[in-house]
Amino acid sequence: MTAALMDGNALAAEILGRVADGVTEVVKATGYRPCLATVLVGNDPSSHVYVRMKVNRSRNVGIESRCINLPQETTTGQLVAEIEALSRDSSVDGILLQHPVPSHIDERAAFEAIDPNKDVDGVTRTSFAQMAFAELGFESATPGGIMRLLDAYEVDLAGARAVVVGRSPILGRPAGMMLLARDATVTFCHSRTVHLAEIVADADVLIAAVGRPEFIRGEWIKPGAVVVDAGYNKGNQGDVEFVPASNRARLITPVPGGVGPMTIAVLLDQTLTAARKRAGS
Ligand code: NAP
Repeated sequence: MTAALMDGNALAAEILGRVADGVTEVVKATGYRPCLATVLVGNDPSSHVYVRMKVNRSRNVGIESRCINLPQETTTGQLVAEIEALSRDSSVDGILLQHPVPSHIDERAAFEAIDPNKDVDGVTRTSFAQMAFAELGFESATPGGIMRLLDAYEVDLAGARAVVVGRSPILGRPAGMMLLARDATVTFCHSRTVHLAEIVADADVLIAAVGRPEFIRGEWIKPGAVVVDAGYNKGNQGDVEFVPASNRARLITPVPGGVGPMTIAVLLDQTLTAARKRAGS
């Protein structure tokens, strides 16, 4: 292996340490504790694990959790009403709706019920527009974590050829817009893309966000490229064939321990930002 690892665990721990200090300051100054509401719909086992991890990490940094668990048969109207109530609740700083919701629910309508001032997971259209125009606002948590990793490892984005494989509203699409806002030359790839291998081979910076184990072949990677694997598939597998890719790349994220921990760190950092706004500091 020639690539150096981009260590998401270490960087996330650093960010969470700063968040914990910030939470202590807010509690001291205001007497109230920052609060993140998590909304989970249905029985998807992975979603339950992800929410539990977010609640545990919140506790570790002193952020209070308000957990709303709704049954599988919840309607769009019921979910929107729950989220609107949290949006109005002045004791809640941030709202996280765990993705994906059951397929009969209009997820976009549910996301848009989140008050943009509490959109600490960066899923509303308002947050997307702010990311696209490089304005201050809440970042989509996983792409925000990717950008912080790239910055921590001093990856020069201006003028770099960046290829994002995947265009989901929570990952590929905002990741590409954030790279564009940082002056990368961005190509989006998706399920209808032809000649994927050739496009990937041109990437100085590759973001894999597909959700298929080892879908990106090591031999496609440009020598010296920076490879960020956001995929997380059964058996702790990423979207990139790790060993051959790390023999060609300059920097690469491990799975697990790369992008995953950064997502939670950004979520909680942004919850602290929302709480500071409530505190007027
Ligand atoms: P998603 O909503 O299923 O989106 C997958 C994307 O991949 C879509 O844009 C799809 O294209 C594209 N795609 C599918 N097949 C393709 C192909 N053959 N060639 C090129 N592109 C193809 O998934 P997601 O929610 O973005 O998640 C992607 C991965 O990231 C998953 O492994 C997930 O577990 C992981 N993830 C990790 C974190 C984290 O914190 N680490 C957070 C979120 C997600 P179309 O748009 O054309 O369908």
